[in-house]
Amino acid sequence: MTYFADLSSYSYLEVNEAMLNVGWLDREHEYTTGPAPAGLVDALADLATGAVSVCRGTHFCNLCPDFQTARENTSRGETFIGSGEVRVTSARGTIYTSPAMIVHYVETHGYLPPEEYCEAVLAQLAGE
Ligand SMILES: [Zn+2]
Repeated sequence: MTYFADLSSYSYLEVNEAMLNVGWLDREHEYTTGPAPAGLVDALADLATGAVSVCRGTHFCNLCPDFQTARENTSRGETFIGSGEVRVTSARGTIYTSPAMIVHYVETHGYLPPEEYCEAVLAQLAGE
């Protein structure tokens, strides 16, 4: 999977709307870690069940210590997270796009997404 810096402009697929990247992690690049806001992992897991653009083949987490572990982590419970993207729109209308695997990054690798992204995810869940 290609690395993108958090909050950079999305240019992975041809899209009409401006979107910002969040959570396209790679072990070659540092990422922010910290305790996730309450409910964030559950919210991301929920979003992962509705992932879009599942057309890029299977992605394996390269932060995991070995391939066997990474392969096990392409699923979280019943949800396949080794492909596809999750999209969230903030109250200000900003659209964020992330790999479905972002839930694994937060839950297992301590990744802390940008605050504005966490707020948008939690607000979206609350609004359902
Ligand atoms: Zn991993």
